[in-house]
Amino acid sequence: SSLRPADELARLGGDEFAIMIPSLESRAELEVLASRLVEAVVKPYEIDGYQIRTSISIGIAIGPDDGNSADDLLIAADLALYAVKAGGRGSYKFYQSSMSKEFNERRQIEIDLREAIERNELELYYQPIVDLRRKVITGFEALVRWHHPVNGVVAPVTFIPVAEDSGLILPLGEWVLAEACRSAAKWPNDFKIAVNLSPVQFSDPNLLSTIERMLAETDLAPNRLELEITERIFMDSGEVTLTTLRRLKQLGIRISMDDFGTGYSSLSYLRSFPFDKIKVDRIFVSDLGEGTEHMVIVQAVVSIANALGMTATAEGVETDEQRQILVGLGCDEAQGYLFGCPVPIAEVSEVIDKWATVKTLAA
Ligand code: C2E
Ligand code: MG
Ligand code: MG
Repeated sequence: SSLRPADELARLGGDEFAIMIPSLESRAELEVLASRLVEAVVKPYEIDGYQIRTSISIGIAIGPDDGNSADDLLIAADLALYAVKAGGRGSYKFYQSSMSKEFNERRQIEIDLREAIERNELELYYQPIVDLRRKVITGFEALVRWHHPVNGVVAPVTFIPVAEDSGLILPLGEWVLAEACRSAAKWPNDFKIAVNLSPVQFSDPNLLSTIERMLAETDLAPNRLELEITERIFMDSGEVTLTTLRRLKQLGIRISMDDFGTGYSSLSYLRSFPFDKIKVDRIFVSDLGEGTEHMVIVQAVVSIANALGMTATAEGVETDEQRQILVGLGCDEAQGYLFGCPVPIAEVSEVIDKWATVKTLAA
């Protein structure tokens, strides 16, 4: 009903549709149509007495500039659609040539990454997490690094999203888990090992059994493994994810909420699952001491964590002033360059030794 008689609507498959608009006066006209479609679709439906909400993302390509054939136009529209989804869905975007460039770069990363996993170009770095009151290491977070043969070290922010989109995160994530458990099992103390899990890994029906197998194979006590998830996990998935989380917790594994405060409706997510730890994102830590409202936010998160029996861990602590403020706020743990940068496995024992001395001095 939003379309004109000459416009053509087709279903491409699944939940994908295409609209062909044969004659067009201006781009503005398309903007009006796109907003109208977005508004029409987000209106809640009532089905069998339930309110159902959905959303729509629209990519727009205009011939002949964006493509001369139907195929090329569909590809361009698809790239624009992809950009909408990456930006948070529920909106529309026009195709731009930069989207092709970005797409090709991502394709190349995907091709290289597939090989990297087979060629063992991935390595785990370990960053200490310390107890602020006792001044001891409580564990390490495993952070993946990619040694690209041409481009050098590639940061996870560049390749994790590509790995998630391409499904490569499943073999990659499995490798990270196995490697982290193997390393931690050899450490002299019962330090915890924190491993980041992508929401995409929760779509793998074998996730639980894989983790159980790794714990058994490495003989690592489940309560030494901490899985870090972000609020993103609750955006697309529902009950299945929660069930998996509960079963992981039943095994004795600890679950942390990572990057807390950067996603949406954080507080309701905290209620939906009994997390063991909240990691306060470094955005809030970075300007502590500069008289910003972030101090109040950190204080509030620490209070919530305390009240709910969770550990509060501050991320990205770089200065002693930040450390002192965090101690004052009653924050339990911290992680950051002030205490130690992520290091390769060979340097972990040095870090442990150094901290053992700190403890002796403090005592
Ligand atoms: P994250 O889990 O929040 O990890 C903390 C990030 O902050 C790490 O970046 C770490 O190097 C960095 N960092 C630590 N201390 C400081 C500090 O004092 N100052 C500043 N500016 N930064 C600090 P990294 O290693 O680049 O990782 C970025 C993100 O990539 C991680 O954020 C995590 O979400 C993701 N990631 C890393 N490894 C894995 C992995 O094995 N699997 C998955 N799914 N994601 C991973
Ligand atoms: Mg993390
Ligand atoms: Mg984090």
